[in-house]
Amino acid sequence: MPAGDPPLTFADLHALSVERLKGVGPQTTKNLAKAGITSVFDLLTHYPRRYLDRTREATIDSLPVGEEGMVFVTVQKVSSRRTRNRRTMVEATVSDGESRMGLTFFNQPWRERQLEIGAEAVVFGKLESFRGKLQMTNPVVDLVAGGGQKATGRILPVYPQSEKAGLMTWDLARFVEDALVKCRPRGFADPVPPKVLEQLDLIDRSSAIAQIHAPQTMGEVSSARKRLVFDELLRIQVKLVQRKRMLEATEVGVHHDLDGALVPAFQDRLGFPLTGAQRRAIDEIEADLAATAPMHRLLQGDVGAGKTVVAVSALLTGVQGGHQGALMAPTEVLAEQHYLGIAALLDGMEVPDTGQTLLNARPLTVELLANRTPAADRKRILVGLADGTVDLVIGTHALIQDAVEFSSLGVVVIDEQHRFGVEQRSALRDKNVDGHQPDVLVMTATPIPRTAAMTVYGDLDVSVLDELPPGRTPIETRWEPDDGVVWRQVRHAVDEGRQAYVVCPLIEESEALDVASAESTHDELAHGVLHDLRVGLLHGRMSSADKEATMTRFRDGDLDVLVATTVIEVGVDVPNATVMVIMDAARFGIAQLHQLRGRVGRGEHASQCYLLGEATTADGEARLEALVASTDGFELAEVDLELRGEGTIMGERQKGRNDLKLASLRRDKAWVEIAREVAYGLVDPDPSMAEYPELAAEIDFLLGEDQADYLLKS
Ligand code: ADP
Ligand code: MG
Repeated sequence: MPAGDPPLTFADLHALSVERLKGVGPQTTKNLAKAGITSVFDLLTHYPRRYLDRTREATIDSLPVGEEGMVFVTVQKVSSRRTRNRRTMVEATVSDGESRMGLTFFNQPWRERQLEIGAEAVVFGKLESFRGKLQMTNPVVDLVAGGGQKATGRILPVYPQSEKAGLMTWDLARFVEDALVKCRPRGFADPVPPKVLEQLDLIDRSSAIAQIHAPQTMGEVSSARKRLVFDELLRIQVKLVQRKRMLEATEVGVHHDLDGALVPAFQDRLGFPLTGAQRRAIDEIEADLAATAPMHRLLQGDVGAGKTVVAVSALLTGVQGGHQGALMAPTEVLAEQHYLGIAALLDGMEVPDTGQTLLNARPLTVELLANRTPAADRKRILVGLADGTVDLVIGTHALIQDAVEFSSLGVVVIDEQHRFGVEQRSALRDKNVDGHQPDVLVMTATPIPRTAAMTVYGDLDVSVLDELPPGRTPIETRWEPDDGVVWRQVRHAVDEGRQAYVVCPLIEESEALDVASAESTHDELAHGVLHDLRVGLLHGRMSSADKEATMTRFRDGDLDVLVATTVIEVGVDVPNATVMVIMDAARFGIAQLHQLRGRVGRGEHASQCYLLGEATTADGEARLEALVASTDGFELAEVDLELRGEGTIMGERQKGRNDLKLASLRRDKAWVEIAREVAYGLVDPDPSMAEYPELAAEIDFLLGEDQADYLLKS
């Protein structure tokens, strides 16, 4: 690769096969392919997992017994045996050139193969003294060099290695080194505008790629990482902002009447003032509705934050301008719940009549359209939607069936977005025959940290209800090993006229077992400790009619205790229920526990949540402790992210050649925001980015259309 040719782009690097590198023959090529590395691009973006700072390692003698430390050693002896309780024990003797120590591994039989005599490794662990000898038990081991080449006095990259693919970190290091040498004459193209780099104090890309693989100091690692993380995040944000701007430019929205009488009338009759957060969200939504492009907005609000009022205000803005509104919920229970709640809120309201009657107003019509809506009603509702006499419709997926046509759909609200796919979102968007796109508000109670939301829901604007209505007594949460205490509390609450939920966990993803556990819990309680209370049962396998009948009984106070599976997770709103008991709570994730807990604490009475059962893992324990310590959904979301890593938020998206390899939505939060800002700055003057062809080309290469679709799909 002679100097004088232009610097290498990522596409250039991708066109270079790893076979061009020294030491990479057919077998290695195959092995590398198994680890997903076929091109020089793949190799150079296979970043070190960590670094061994050989300039700062300890010697065995300098490490105090009882302290953790990192020592560079050579393997001298290794053997394996079974202990009395049938565990494998691998023992090695290693030397740092002056002193020796033992390494003991339990249940890691493969260590015997890994630690060949003569192998050099850096071990990290706690130094112990056992029967007068120094040793470490189950230390972290990184083999660092092979073939007798001893790397000294520098910082060594440790690559994610794959035993299966037969790739060791030092192999990868050698290949990377050769790739860097071969690329050096041309250098790497830097598509990010220099003024951005300057502003953010970021190093150039050639230095960053070199330093991430072969740093002289740990400081170099951090500046390299900063630059490469920024690039990854910038590419995604540019793509998302472009997509957003494109939609805004091509879609024709519905014209709304912001000065109508319906929204103020609705807000007046609520009987409580809006919270500041609700006010802000409604303002943001109204600004979107006023604009010619349709709204694509996400409304995030913790359980109980009052999303419904915001949603109904948006829907009514549509209605007061002569359009219709639709609210889609993920389950029948939730759709029915919304329908009952919203119909009650709007009871007796009127809309201006368009001339069919002698009066100039007619009652505002709200209908429920679910799968179990009787055929006759369904027919009537469909007619009403098509001729415009039904103002608001609330339903499930039934709303997006082909038979459903609207006269003029103005505003769509989709509740609990994470249960719908993007296709379903857009199916509802395309319901207008005249091609005008309704405004879409997506509501979620899953608190996603803002930065993650920016990436996961990157094509949506975000409004946050970060304030609960006043007068809520915080829910008291206790992790109770002793369920006897809990049933006494349930009984006590019922004596006071309150109600309780008992939630049974999902069992290994099997609905059948799930149901069985709820049934047996129900039977045990109803015939045991709670035999004199009215105990009901709700689960996913019941018919919709039975489900609704049970919910109605509970809502009406004809049941004291409702034993349920997680079907009650979202949206169920019975303010008189003040006790939530979650069986085997450690089986649930943080977000789910928080959702479940949000079913109580919805009224004026103080509420309690009891988490039952043992935590069998450290993470499980941390989850339950987090729930006990905090009722703030956003705080819990941060803890969740901390415990699970962002892989779960990005889901499947985390995988694949073109994704975030270095950036962490958790660690690099601040950079997500910065990248978003920079992306607006680059895209807004000219969405085609003609001024930045190299960056546009790189984004196209890494995040081409199909990749972007993938990115936007939840
Ligand atoms: P979410 O859907 O965000 O979980 P809801 O919209 O169901 O919350 O509201 C929860 C409860 O709070 C409802 O009973 C609602 O009437 C009440 N509520 C909503 N906004 C306010 C407010 N500004 N002041 C007092 N109560 C409110
Ligand atoms: Mg709700």
